[in-house]
Amino acid sequence: MELTKEQFKADFERMLSDYFTMDVEKSDLTEQYVTLGKLIGSYAAKEWRNTNQRYLEKGEKQVYYFSMEFLLGRMLKSNLFNLGILDTVRAGLKEMGMDLEALEQVELDAGLGNGGLGRLAACFIDSMATHAIPGHGNGIRFKYGLFRQKFVNGYQVELPENWLRNGNVWETRRLNKAVNVRFYGNVRLEKDASGHFVPHYENEEIVLAVPYDTPVIGYGDNTVNTLRLWSAEMPLEDANTEYHAFIQQQSRIESISEVLYPDDSNYEGRLLRLKQEYFFVSAGIQSIIRTYKKRGLPMSNLAEKVAIHINDTHPALCVPELMRILMDEEGMDWEPAWDVTVKVLSYTNHTIMSEALESWPTDMMAQLLPRIYQIICEIDRRYAEDMARLYDWDMIERTRVISGGSVKMAHLAIIGSHSINGVAKLHTNILKEKVLRDFYHIFPSRFNNKTNGITHRRWLLLSNEPLRSFIDSKIGKEWATKPTDLKMLEPFRRDENVLRQLAEIKQINKQRLADYIRKRTGLAVWTDAIFDVQVKRFHAYKRQLLNLLHILSLYFKLKDDPGADIYPRVFIFGGKAAPSYTYAKEIIKLINAAADLINHDPAVRDMLKIVFIENYGVSLAERIIPAADVSEQISLASKEASGTSNMKFMLNGAVTLATLDGANVEIRDLVGEDNIILFGLTDQEVFQYYHDRSYHSYDYYKKNPVLHRVLDALIDGSIPGVQAEGRDIFDSLIKYGDEFFVLRDFEDYALAQKKVDMLYRDPLKWQEMALINIANAGVFSSDYTVLRYAAEIWNVNSKTRLF
Ligand SMILES: *Cc1c(COP(=O)(O)O)cnc(C)c1O
Repeated sequence: MELTKEQFKADFERMLSDYFTMDVEKSDLTEQYVTLGKLIGSYAAKEWRNTNQRYLEKGEKQVYYFSMEFLLGRMLKSNLFNLGILDTVRAGLKEMGMDLEALEQVELDAGLGNGGLGRLAACFIDSMATHAIPGHGNGIRFKYGLFRQKFVNGYQVELPENWLRNGNVWETRRLNKAVNVRFYGNVRLEKDASGHFVPHYENEEIVLAVPYDTPVIGYGDNTVNTLRLWSAEMPLEDANTEYHAFIQQQSRIESISEVLYPDDSNYEGRLLRLKQEYFFVSAGIQSIIRTYKKRGLPMSNLAEKVAIHINDTHPALCVPELMRILMDEEGMDWEPAWDVTVKVLSYTNHTIMSEALESWPTDMMAQLLPRIYQIICEIDRRYAEDMARLYDWDMIERTRVISGGSVKMAHLAIIGSHSINGVAKLHTNILKEKVLRDFYHIFPSRFNNKTNGITHRRWLLLSNEPLRSFIDSKIGKEWATKPTDLKMLEPFRRDENVLRQLAEIKQINKQRLADYIRKRTGLAVWTDAIFDVQVKRFHAYKRQLLNLLHILSLYFKLKDDPGADIYPRVFIFGGKAAPSYTYAKEIIKLINAAADLINHDPAVRDMLKIVFIENYGVSLAERIIPAADVSEQISLASKEASGTSNMKFMLNGAVTLATLDGANVEIRDLVGEDNIILFGLTDQEVFQYYHDRSYHSYDYYKKNPVLHRVLDALIDGSIPGVQAEGRDIFDSLIKYGDEFFVLRDFEDYALAQKKVDMLYRDPLKWQEMALINIANAGVFSSDYTVLRYAAEIWNVNSKTRLF
């Protein structure tokens, strides 16, 4: 948008006085932040209305991205940038005596997600708006996002994260668009005059779903899409209930949108989670159908105007809910309703880990969602009947929706969708060949791959301004919306001047992170050391433990031989463990204990440091990733569906140290073997081990003296304060078979780390690798990912053509 500095200053002062009856000198940071947020909202409002008007007038097909999680992070800078007024506003604020960066810090991260899956949804809505894809987010407005992580004596402690405590300047509550969602009760089907079965409900509990809409502002375009998050409230008519009953019912109802991931270790917690899933699915679909009906088109044409995407299985109840609305409320028969449902819905699978494949006990489903359960039973019955003509009974049993007393959500999503995609080439192939091979056999044309992506605007242009300016100066500015232009950097690979400037930029970012580390932890780190970073959720398959065992081996090497030729390193960790995931929490404790030991041992001086930064989240990622030299992507091959932090690091010029897992394979294909450091088993070797049952972790402990020494350190008191944790972890590796092949990959990993050490000593060579990585990272922009979804799955328009 067009905005002069003078206009901005005048607008800001007026807004501040309207909201807080205040002038700049007397206002505090929060008031200034809220004012700026409201002002940005008012700037975006006109384009928001225009976008909706345009969609309506052109009769454009709309996409709704249903996701339990949206890990948005902060929005202030991104909104300013996307509106094209970042520099103007920064300068205007400065003239009024304010600092944009200080205002940015006031915003609390919207942490409505756990990790990669939720961040993917956030990247997708940014990219859809930027390329004028009519695509909107649909999810839950959790009052508390992911917990805040604190370390107490090295242990993770979870604290509530009340991200709404200062209000949320970006959202608008729309009570007039609220809908009712039904739970519990009895349902009877009765024939009406036309012979149609109509459900009659008794004793149901009604929950009012109130939408809060947030504008999703596209970059440099006039498109402003909508992120609609639902909040659970008491229905208005219940205001006549007796006082105490009212309060009780209110708190029960409001708990639906209270916390992301309720405690799933008990029945109540699991039930709440199922309520949440149906809550945002039902509210979302009801509101989509209401909007569609305004167009005056028949329900049988729904798939021409509406696509609904199911992000993982959490919204899989879209299948029976859309059927319910089409039949019970719109009077369609089963067959045409099913035809429409399958055409409207598409599904993304995010994991092959069996414990993450959702299923719900049939009795829980029947009690909480009686009508939905009836429809699921009928979907299952018809599926079994249809398949019986083509396949044997075993095949049907393996693939049907209801089996062993539970509802299989992935099966429901697959049977009810016209498209099923994996999130990286390797992952999609594993789905086809192993995890979903029966379904691939039955519905081959439904399967496709869409490799994940990241919005390169947030993950480079906004979070790494020194690198952004440098790239602009070399290849112009078009790469902001045409990220494969980054390829134009490749011819500079032997340009010493360019490589030196890249090194300087990395140094600036490392210094910025070092200052932050000092402020937050009191620890001084040497910025000439290699910054070796592993930041992601804590999970055994991601193998933070492998990283730690290697660090311990370096430590013992230095203890034995103080003159050992090791290039100085700062190992940086960040990440949360699920509150009930004891093993992952033990690894966190172990890393903190090792950090205590190593950081305070004068024998290793500045050679080795471990920094574990508390409370990893989007804003912290934006600070850490630009400062990384090495990107640790060391999951056991086959386990990480795609990974997206691997892409963020590559984009910022870190060299990837990786197994051939997820999208690491595609990074290798792009940059070549010389510009990535690979190690470890391949997915095929892992599957072979499973097949032969031939992995014996004890052998590696026995025959590798370095590993032996490191593992003994877990149990012999060498690392103070971890008796119990050290023993558990030792036992998991030696006694219980080392499920994720940590010991099998250790030696190869240590060799790869040695290679990192050697390569880093040649700064020009290292920066050349960094440059090749940056130049080839454009392919992983979520701009392309969503354009592929739009063209190949959703069949919707965008303003950008794909190649
Ligand atoms: C990108 C991102 C992730 C995903 O990281 P992976 O290493 O791909 O698992 C998780 N959390 C945050 C905050 C992120 O920004």
